Amino acid sequence: MRCIVIGGGAAGMMSAIAAAKTGAEVLLLEKNEKLGKKIYITGKGRCNVTNDCDPEDFFANIVTNDKFMYSAYYSFDNSMLMDMITNAGCDLKTERGNRVFPVSDHSSDITRTLTNIMKDLGVQVRLNSQVTSLLAENGTITGLKLKNGQTIDGDRVIVATGGLSYASTGSTGDGHKWLTNLGHTVKECKPALVPLTVEEDFYKDLQGLALKNVEVKLYDEFIPEGTIIPKKKKPIYEGFGEMLFTHFGISGPLIISASSYYAKKAYGKRVTLMLDLKPALSMEQLDKRILRDFEENANKSFKNAIGGLLPAKLIPVIIEAAGIDPDKAVNVITREERERLVNTLKGLRFTVTGSRDFNEAIITQGGINVKEVNPSTMESKLVKGLYIVGELLDVDALTGGFNLQVAWSTGHLAGTSINE
Ligand SMILES: Cc1cc2nc3c(=O)[nH]c(=O)nc-3n(C[C@H](O)[C@H](O)[C@H](O)COP(=O)(O)OP(=O)(O)OC[C@H]3O[C@@H](n4cnc5c(N)ncnc54)[C@H](O)[C@@H]3O)c2cc1C
Repeated sequence: MRCIVIGGGAAGMMSAIAAAKTGAEVLLLEKNEKLGKKIYITGKGRCNVTNDCDPEDFFANIVTNDKFMYSAYYSFDNSMLMDMITNAGCDLKTERGNRVFPVSDHSSDITRTLTNIMKDLGVQVRLNSQVTSLLAENGTITGLKLKNGQTIDGDRVIVATGGLSYASTGSTGDGHKWLTNLGHTVKECKPALVPLTVEEDFYKDLQGLALKNVEVKLYDEFIPEGTIIPKKKKPIYEGFGEMLFTHFGISGPLIISASSYYAKKAYGKRVTLMLDLKPALSMEQLDKRILRDFEENANKSFKNAIGGLLPAKLIPVIIEAAGIDPDKAVNVITREERERLVNTLKGLRFTVTGSRDFNEAIITQGGINVKEVNPSTMESKLVKGLYIVGELLDVDALTGGFNLQVAWSTGHLAGTSINE
């Protein structure tokens, strides 16, 4: 049996390994001058290779098409991946949030380890080999064409060309085009795990400010200032953690996660994001805390009395949003003004206008429609002998090592299925 794998990223290398283990003769084609260009930049160069969680958590972190992943995950899960990597000599460690990294903190060690495994299994790797089209006859794959004009015959082809994010790593959407030509459909591709842009100008004054232990709620519509959000109105994303203000808007782990739900449920819309700066305190507790601060600073102006509550950069923004005279003495601040301050601290509003583009997106949401792919084998339901894996599929997850696990699991399942 001969198997050709297109794409030398995470999913492609894993496909090649699994296919070679079945005894097949495997050829891996990569258009770049080296393998794993995207792996190299993962986890800020450290590669968060998977998440050491239980299956329930894994599926809870899949944003799109979690059920499609069942067979793939159970046939090659996080512990099997970790065993494979460590048995090949690359030690791993688990950090906060069950995130798994190589002990060396070098993502290149993951690519090197996979390359060594492929070498031991006799996988033939051809770099600088750009595929330009797939060849099929009567609903069966017959081979592919390279940019240099060469045709390579094959009745088993695994396509692992990735999504559309960080195109400089090689993921330029080639696979999407070939598969569309063969009758597949593509669910709209959108940047996800990406910073968001906001309308309010004040983010510019907050540039560089990082907030910890805050809560955000993202809604699927614009909710005008002054409107009370009804209790039954559920946010499309709700999370607690860290966020960051940048030169264009907002980012940081919380926002990056929120962006996946923005892409899924509100893409392109102008929507409201509420920031709770004091999520650990109820309205009443926060009011009491403010009263105490005011009593301790009875002779100070309002702007000089709230320094204990907030980072300095945020003070003018909160004062403006609460509509309180900054120079007013705190001992004459009214109950109503205090209430406005509490409401602002627990619900600072932002209008999200969009997200940054694919060049800044960790993942592509959308891709090949999974209804057209057999979840037990990753084989196309339209073209026999053709397998589709990794980020190219309409599957995406949150950060934490889950997206690479999608690539490992789908790649492994395709590779082991080529003999069926
Ligand atoms: C900045 C950043 C950080 C990330 N960090 C993490 C992390 O820490 N943990 C995590 O789980 N996920 C992370 N991800 C996501 C993860 O990297 C991807 O989901 C995963 O690498 C996808 O693997 P893939 O093999 O499907 O696609 P890719 O890695 O994109 O590989 C596709 C390969 O196909 C090749 N190719 C494309 N077209 C052709 C062609 N025509 N001919 C031949 N070859 C072709 C490409 O050159 C490329 O090498 C991160 C992503 C980014 C952008």
